[in-house]
Amino acid sequence: MTASRRLYLSPPHMGADERRLLLEAFDSNWIAPLGPHVDAFQEEFASYVGVPRAVALSSGTAALHLALLVSGVAAGDDVLVSTLTFAGSVNPIRYVGANPVFVDSESRTWNLDPQLLEDYLAKAAKRGRMPRAIVPVHLYGQVAEMAPILGLGERYGIPVIEDAAEALGATYGGRAAGTLGAMGIYSFNGNKVITTSGGGMVVAEDGALLDRVLKLATQAREPAAHYEHQEIGFNYRLSNLLAAVGRGQLGVLDDRLRARARVYERYATALAGLPGVTFQPDTGPGSHSRWLTTATVDPDRFGATATEVRLALEALNIEARPLWKPMHMQPVYAGATAVLSGVSEALYARGICLPSGSAMSEADQQRVIDVIAGMARG
Ligand SMILES: *Cc1c(COP(=O)(O)O)cnc(C)c1O
Repeated sequence: MTASRRLYLSPPHMGADERRLLLEAFDSNWIAPLGPHVDAFQEEFASYVGVPRAVALSSGTAALHLALLVSGVAAGDDVLVSTLTFAGSVNPIRYVGANPVFVDSESRTWNLDPQLLEDYLAKAAKRGRMPRAIVPVHLYGQVAEMAPILGLGERYGIPVIEDAAEALGATYGGRAAGTLGAMGIYSFNGNKVITTSGGGMVVAEDGALLDRVLKLATQAREPAAHYEHQEIGFNYRLSNLLAAVGRGQLGVLDDRLRARARVYERYATALAGLPGVTFQPDTGPGSHSRWLTTATVDPDRFGATATEVRLALEALNIEARPLWKPMHMQPVYAGATAVLSGVSEALYARGICLPSGSAMSEADQQRVIDVIAGMARG
């Protein structure tokens, strides 16, 4: 048998308009980190998630960096952040010289545990050393339990910055993920629900914060013909070419979300009944972008470990991944403060991310299902 085509975890999925818009941007000679497509992408994105304004940036990581800066996070500050996440949620905390304080997951959502957050904040208040921001991550697209997190932020006067990089399209209480806190960030990296190859977006309740983001992203130029600078800025704007691709992707976002939901439903139907297989719990309609379908595998009940499942898929040229390695376990963050319950480590030990791309055919998905079902005990 010839090796089958590689099945990727979450490959880009372009629609009909992206190429046309990209070429239109190219031909217009607006080949710069500003231009009409950037403006239009920001407006269309803001309207999609239901906020007055959004600022497009070169990546989700850059978006979080500037969100932290304009929220007043500075060197020596503490920032509470989910430990079960990608490094892009945490590295920007170090960019501003602040210290991440890692908070473990709750088993109900796999996201930042509001009870651990409450306990930590009560102790921090007694000690008189409050964190400067809270960064909940909407893991794999599932919105964190935001009501208690926002309530705690309000009670202690700490801004909540949502990392919605994986959760574009998910909602919580009828509002878009990323628009619940003081600020929210999104990513259009190549493997996300929609992509510009690389890119990000910031939204905020307070338009003045977005003015600050825009200025800092443009080398902190003062409005003067001679390039006056009073502070250190960054070169973080999104290219007009990529914004054109983003507009096309935004046009098919609802289709992409439906396709990913169908992928999840097919996996759940075929595999959730297997002994020892548990999918990321569902917290209700719309609460998940279905960026990735993820599950844990209990080796005693299933008959194989998550790693064995992943390697069996790899042998058939199918890409699967472990869950994110918790940040408090990462060598680069050794020594950081962490508020732990054991949940994220247990998830990491048993978790697997399955191929979840919106363009995956049913036949390709069946290849994945057959491998996993074939390994189950029984
Ligand atoms: C992708 C991702 C980021 C970073 O986004 P980039 O656009 O790749 O910089 C941040 N946080 C999470 C949770 C992500 O998945």
